[in-house]
Amino acid sequence: ASEPGGPYRVVLLGASGVGKTAFASIFAGAADSMDSDDCELCGDEVCEKEIEVDGELATIMLLDTWDSEPDNDWTQERYMQTGDAYLLLYSITDRTSFLRASELRITLRRFRPAQHTPIILVGNKCDLVRRREVSVSEGRACAAVFDCKFIETSAAMQHNVWEAFHGIVRQLRLRRDSK
Ligand code: GDP
Repeated sequence: ASEPGGPYRVVLLGASGVGKTAFASIFAGAADSMDSDDCELCGDEVCEKEIEVDGELATIMLLDTWDSEPDNDWTQERYMQTGDAYLLLYSITDRTSFLRASELRITLRRFRPAQHTPIILVGNKCDLVRRREVSVSEGRACAAVFDCKFIETSAAMQHNVWEAFHGIVRQLRLRRDSK
């Protein structure tokens, strides 16, 4: 039932502590799954499952880069090359993670110069309003500069997390259909 070209490899990128693991566990959970058998292939870092987006099934293989720290170049480069799409996370409570997201975006561009790789800039932890260091408009402006979509989420409140995954699938389909 999955669509041609699938599964889509979606990579979680971002500084440590921004919520990548939290995203991966929401994805792995049965919450929004069609036929709610959990992840078929849930290792520590890979999880594959089918989700329904706009009435059509899509198979996503989610890759969590856990600690893609600057010194771990090998891991980072491997992920930069293997993803079909990227969720680029930062925490709205941590300006350093926002700057890190910009760096990762630039590195991504270096690895895939010619391709229109779907990317969504994700400002996570939007539930922590009092600790906000990065405004919504800064996030949006950054996404505009980097030519990607933008969404604010709260993994803790399960707010907008599925919207982010659905957005990625929609972008992947647009790209597929325009080929
Ligand atoms: P990772 O290093 O990117 O995988 O980050 P984690 O998923 O391990 O999250 C780091 C910490 O932030 C953990 O204590 C999470 O519970 C917490 N966290 C993750 N997402 C959210 C969120 O949306 N809101 C709040 N308040 N805490 C979050």
